[in-house]
Amino acid sequence: MKDSQCKWFDVCPMKYYWKQGQIESKWIEDYCNKNWLNCIRYEKEENGIDHPDQMLPNGEIDENLY
Ligand code: SF4
Repeated sequence: MKDSQCKWFDVCPMKYYWKQGQIESKWIEDYCNKNWLNCIRYEKEENGIDHPDQMLPNGEIDENLY
């Protein structure tokens, strides 16, 4: 059976920002619920590389997120 969501979703700051209405649903739909293998955050998590909470799935930093 294919997983339908990124395994990091529950602990990912993107979930928090999304629930707060700070980021658009497309981030969750396009990455967390579909192509998490393309997510820069996912890649860094898998490799144990530190990355800021404000880093979006495409690797951009959104300094407005809090
Ligand atoms: S932002 Fe990336 S690492 Fe976080 S839950 Fe979504 S796909 Fe996974």
